[in-house]
Amino acid sequence: MPDRPPVFDDREDAVLTEVVDALVESERALAELEAARVAQFAAAMRVALRRSEHRPRAVQEREMALRSIAAEIGVALRWNDRTVQRRLGEALQLVDDFPATLQALSEGRISARHAAAIRDVGTELVDPTVRAAFEGRVIVRAASDTVAGTRAFARALVEELHPTSVTERFEQAERQRRVWIDDDVDGMARLGVIDGTAKIRAMYDRLTQQARAIRAVARPETATDDSDPDAVRDRRTIDQVRADLLCDLMLTGAPTIDPTIDTLPGGLGAIRAHVSVVVPALTAAGASDRGASIDGLSPIDAGTARRLLAGSPAWDRLVTHPITGSVLAVDRYRPSPALQRFVRARDMHCRFPGCRQPARRCDLDHNRDHARGGPTARCNLACLCKRHHTLKTETPWVAHQLPDGSIEWTSPLGRRASNRPGRYVAFVPEPDPPPF
Ligand SMILES: [Zn+2]
Repeated sequence: MPDRPPVFDDREDAVLTEVVDALVESERALAELEAARVAQFAAAMRVALRRSEHRPRAVQEREMALRSIAAEIGVALRWNDRTVQRRLGEALQLVDDFPATLQALSEGRISARHAAAIRDVGTELVDPTVRAAFEGRVIVRAASDTVAGTRAFARALVEELHPTSVTERFEQAERQRRVWIDDDVDGMARLGVIDGTAKIRAMYDRLTQQARAIRAVARPETATDDSDPDAVRDRRTIDQVRADLLCDLMLTGAPTIDPTIDTLPGGLGAIRAHVSVVVPALTAAGASDRGASIDGLSPIDAGTARRLLAGSPAWDRLVTHPITGSVLAVDRYRPSPALQRFVRARDMHCRFPGCRQPARRCDLDHNRDHARGGPTARCNLACLCKRHHTLKTETPWVAHQLPDGSIEWTSPLGRRASNRPGRYVAFVPEPDPPPF
């Protein structure tokens, strides 16, 4: 053991001891609060279930009561209502199916994340007796292990207690396969995919083999940098080559099985990627490097934005310019293409508070119904995603658009939330009145 450095004095140790004790106490108090919140969410979920009993017709209609309540809570907490809806379901599950876990949480013996891991893994066990035995053992473990350690222990225990074979469970799990996207920082984003282990590992192996083959050609191990000045030098890391190969395959490849080949010109391979790139005029002209984005939400670097502007057919091009406030009134039910483009560019994404669905995946909603005299004009149109469009149509949520494009939402309980458009943009910086 090396000598203790003199800078570690006893007073600091005393401070640290106090801090650690206080953190343990905070964690315990937070666990208690979380248990209270779970009970509140579960109570809201029970109201939603009771209300939906009276709407037995379609699945979607039954879900409307739940969505409206989730939106009500979301606006009050400033949470995305989809997140609230998920938490409502999880809370009721914890109350109904994992009572011992909730008890341990309310006594501060385990944290909220430990409780979530127990519920998450234990949800596969359908038999209440088996589940209770599982809970008992995992709670003991959770009291002295990290969340990751508890989760691993719980998984092994499920394996031991589960009445069905891994084959049956794989069939069930495989139905959850999907692809998703997350924004990262600095103009980057992440693509995720979940599917069977064999398939995912095979994909990774093929990418790795291809990447190694590229590196073997580009930088033969026998050649030194000086031996052949004409040698292709590829300084990408193996990670970078794998990422480049995957992007290349996804953007240009065609699926092997194509059921559309007889009906769609060119089949699935002819379908090109479609994203909206928003580039301020100064950035497009090269006078600035700021403000370029995908869908007005995810910042991208100016170089990429200019390259896209320069003309790949796979991208929509929008050039932004501050709007001068021109008058608009077109009274047709179908908004003209120019009006649609205007509203989508102004809104950038769904206008329900907290929702970030990009405008190109949204419907154009008449804030005041067309049937009730609402004009097809930009002061009465807004982008709403399918979920929030249905919420507005099927439940008592009301949207009222103000002259500056802000939307005042009023919830069924009378709570108000205002949503401003992201920014004002036009497509072409020209002095003439807009063409709509
Ligand atoms: Zn939405």
